[in-house]
Amino acid sequence: MDAVERVRVMMRASTAVTVLTGAGISTDSGIPDFRGPNGVWTRNPAAERMSSYDDYVADPAVRRNAWQSRRTHPAWTAEPNEGHRALVDLESSGRLRAIVTQNIDGLHQRAGSSPDKVIEVHGTIWETQCLGCWARAPMAETLARVDAGEDDPPCLLCGGILKSATISFGQRLDNDVLEVAAIAAESCDLFLAVGSSLTVRPAAGLCDVAVDAGAPLIVINAQETPYDDLATEVIREPIGEILPAVTRDLA
Ligand code: NAD
Repeated sequence: MDAVERVRVMMRASTAVTVLTGAGISTDSGIPDFRGPNGVWTRNPAAERMSSYDDYVADPAVRRNAWQSRRTHPAWTAEPNEGHRALVDLESSGRLRAIVTQNIDGLHQRAGSSPDKVIEVHGTIWETQCLGCWARAPMAETLARVDAGEDDPPCLLCGGILKSATISFGQRLDNDVLEVAAIAAESCDLFLAVGSSLTVRPAAGLCDVAVDAGAPLIVINAQETPYDDLATEVIREPIGEILPAVTRDLA
């Protein structure tokens, strides 16, 4: 039996699978990852330094740049792919505990995963959040203001700085969301880490939480990760082929 078949057998025997997804599950949808061979930061290391929360708050020029790049973000036109759809099939089979995603693109929900099964630990680009009053609103409303000429649109309620409702470097994660994610890792009987370099904490630490609670860890990622040694199976093949293969005929 090869690794794909072994994982498929484990899936069939599971009743509560938690899946941690990263940018790699969305590259087939045309959204580049950060650290893969064609990643945004692999190609332009300076881009990583522009993702700092403190710089965003302190420097209007950083915010003006950020609004311009949000206007053309690939998430607006991306469509879910076979990897996202395979996780919908996993949910349909009744075996999905939760999808904990580091992605901000909303593609799991657009593929058909139930919103209450998707835990967005790094937030979503589909909404804005005010850094003063924390009000959230649809991103499209603010992008319309940017299109109309506002280069750094303030919050309409309190005048505070607006940002996409995503987590930047140096920004704290939402503790409530993180707690729900930790419970999903702790209470599963199989934990899959898919398309993540597993280098961003605390999300990557959910692998430890799951393994400490007794769940086998499966890593599906093209490149090595720091968690490969802890994993029961490591599959370094394209996600768009492997996820449909391991979730095949689960019903
Ligand atoms: P990462 O860029 O650090 O790692 C992605 C991994 O996926 C790489 O190791 C790469 O080799 C692998 N990969 C890419 N395409 C693959 C494929 N088709 N098949 C198999 N493996 C593939 O991503 P990360 O670990 O998620 O951390 C990056 C952070 O950036 C996250 O916090 C995330 O929020 C954010 N991000 C999100 C998006 C998105 O929402 N789609 C895109 C870029 C970055």
